Amino acid sequence: MLEELKERVCEGNVALAEHGLVIFTWGNLSEIDFEKKIVAIKPSGVSFEELETEDIVLVDLEGKVVEGDKRPSSDTPTHLEIYRNFPKIKSVVHTHSTHATTFAQALKGIECFGTTHADHFFGKVPVTRKLSEEEIVNDYEANTGKVIVETVEEKKIDPLQVPACLVANHGPFVFGETAEKTVENAVVLEQVARMNIETLKVNPETKAIDQALLDKHFLRKHGKNAYYGQG
Ligand SMILES: [Zn+2]
Repeated sequence: MLEELKERVCEGNVALAEHGLVIFTWGNLSEIDFEKKIVAIKPSGVSFEELETEDIVLVDLEGKVVEGDKRPSSDTPTHLEIYRNFPKIKSVVHTHSTHATTFAQALKGIECFGTTHADHFFGKVPVTRKLSEEEIVNDYEANTGKVIVETVEEKKIDPLQVPACLVANHGPFVFGETAEKTVENAVVLEQVARMNIETLKVNPETKAIDQALLDKHFLRKHGKNAYYGQG
């Protein structure tokens, strides 16, 4: 079971690089086994090209390493904070993908302008507030997770309906029910961020998609009345 978890996490991390979302070591993917309360995550400082299943580190929900020779990603406390607060989330991806990070740096959420966005995200992807100096100096990575949780809760977002949050001045954290789905969400997030920037170039006054069209596109693929696809 845990071996399969490690394999999925290794494949997911490699996929981030294959999709062009990460360069060098700028990103990480994890998945949780909620029953065993074990998180599998990328090791710190290992390039995506060199990553092997045996490199994947297993930690408990307090961050203690339970298996693996390498140190877990330095962002592990951020991932754990998200898992502890949102039991529906089974996988977390963090990247510095160019266009999504552009919005994070500009302290702007990604407004839903069209159906590409609406098929995957049920509305605007939020951006967090900036961390305080105190939050940066002490427990920075855990506080990054806390500000994500705070943003999702304050905006009353279901983190599987809008499965991403931009951290101010930093970049996207993306959620999902499996590692594979979370990689897909990260790819789509980057694409809609890119389209969003292009749309604003064509018309800086562009407004959010109409609610009826947002509802139609998201709800036909997700939720109890979904009818799109072969599912
Ligand atoms: Zn980062």
